[in-house]
Amino acid sequence: MAKSLLVVDDSATMRKIITRTIRKADLSVEDEILEAGDGSEALEKLEGNSVDIVLCDINMPGMDGRTFVKEARQIPSNANTKIIMISTESADEVIDGVKADGANGYVTKPFTPETIQKELAPFME
Ligand SMILES: [Mg+2]
Repeated sequence: MAKSLLVVDDSATMRKIITRTIRKADLSVEDEILEAGDGSEALEKLEGNSVDIVLCDINMPGMDGRTFVKEARQIPSNANTKIIMISTESADEVIDGVKADGANGYVTKPFTPETIQKELAPFME
């Protein structure tokens, strides 16, 4: 069954790039990809929709990605939702920290379609 996706980034252009990359990749994804501009908006979208995979930026005005992961993991209905971070942050402590907080994967910007495909593949079954 096609997976439902939510793309979270403060840049509308980056959301478009991520969305387009996913559509080009060989992944079974629902036609409608949800979008949010920061962590609070993303939490609202999670509340009203069944989302399989969240692709989330870290640095955003409003609620940032790290806070989003912590908050999302406090909500039992999100237990099965996979959260993959996509960020320019490449320091190990940031990557390890956000994974410890409950993120399932990490992609550094700039990314290639192959990277996105490889990172999402384990969660597509
Ligand atoms: Mg950003």
